[in-house]
Amino acid sequence: MAGGSDTAETVTLTCARCGKPSHLQCPKCMDLKLPREGAAFCSQDCFKASWSTHKAVHLKAKLSSIGTGNSGEHNSDFANEGWLYCLKKGQARTPKLPHFDWTGTLRPYPISSKREVPPHIDRPDWADDGIPKIEPNSDFQHVVEIKKPDQIEKMREVGRISREVLDAAARVIRPGITTDEIDRVVHEATIAAGGYPSPLNYHFFPKSCCTSVNEVICHGIPDARKLEDGDIVNVDVTVYYKGYHGDLNETYFVGEVDEESRRLVQCTYECLEKAIAMVKPGVRFRDVGEVINRHASMSGLSVVRSYCGHGIGELFHCAPNIPHYGRNKAVGVMKAGQTFTIEPMINAGVWRDRMWPDGWTAVTADGKRSAQFEHTLLVTETGVEVLTARLPTSPKVFPWLN
Ligand SMILES: [Zn+2]
Ligand SMILES: [Zn+2]
Repeated sequence: MAGGSDTAETVTLTCARCGKPSHLQCPKCMDLKLPREGAAFCSQDCFKASWSTHKAVHLKAKLSSIGTGNSGEHNSDFANEGWLYCLKKGQARTPKLPHFDWTGTLRPYPISSKREVPPHIDRPDWADDGIPKIEPNSDFQHVVEIKKPDQIEKMREVGRISREVLDAAARVIRPGITTDEIDRVVHEATIAAGGYPSPLNYHFFPKSCCTSVNEVICHGIPDARKLEDGDIVNVDVTVYYKGYHGDLNETYFVGEVDEESRRLVQCTYECLEKAIAMVKPGVRFRDVGEVINRHASMSGLSVVRSYCGHGIGELFHCAPNIPHYGRNKAVGVMKAGQTFTIEPMINAGVWRDRMWPDGWTAVTADGKRSAQFEHTLLVTETGVEVLTARLPTSPKVFPWLN
């Protein structure tokens, strides 16, 4: 896969992963004419092991070349060019939409320019260059951390702040508001609380929260589309505060929503409730998916398989990985002091997902609607504490809770 060693010069390059002398060059970096330092690898093994983080270099180069107006010439192989342009400039995507077999009626709209975070706010390590550095290399990708009382107190604090930020977003949802305006509310509420919006620039994600409308399963990018009467919209908020992340989401009704969508959203809410009710020390992570799958299939709904719940704390995403579907192979049992999310995504039609050409927006393969709810949870000695639980001040937007 790698290859294309360069014979023109005799400079000794060192492996971007292990530092040994290297003669392999990343072919994509060569295509893009990127500096050879940082693009050299001693072996296919080091190249492959680095790929998940290294590939970010390519996207970053494409984005910056587009920013300086050199987008044309050498980039004819970029099916994504129009999208990247819009991510960068916030220009109308419509005239330059790439060819894509859209699964439903939703389309991307222009994205506004990047929102600023004031310098006094503590930032995660991806805030400046888009690349998480501690997270992918941490032992807590393999071992589930048991948090100490002082860490748990920090998790409680960020959990409550994240909830307040999501509630602020919930209060402005109505027909006619754009998802970009929701993003602004999330961004400003997060900063007002002294936090950093974790999604912002995480692997280059361009906005401060995810907004997933109708057939979007998750990771929708807030944009200039106005919400329409009858839409459903999930808002997913993560806040970074005093070194810890809190993560939650809810799916809201926009105006009057049809009966089928109301049932989908309520059933998804119940799936999360049932999963939370089983959390306590000794329960197997793989049983979470059994409970969710049973409840969803009872209503003729299906469970998304490509996106899972995750450990959370000083890292945004870490072990354990918690699938929401049945017959999964997740390993391990719950122990007191662990913190993780459960966030089932439930589809009205088939479970299968597709990715928009923006590399983020996950949609249902059949274009039917999808709903999601998420909480950050703490396993206690006797059961569970919902760190992102609703507050007495939370807006009463779900009819089944009134
Ligand atoms: Zn989330
Ligand atoms: Zn999450």
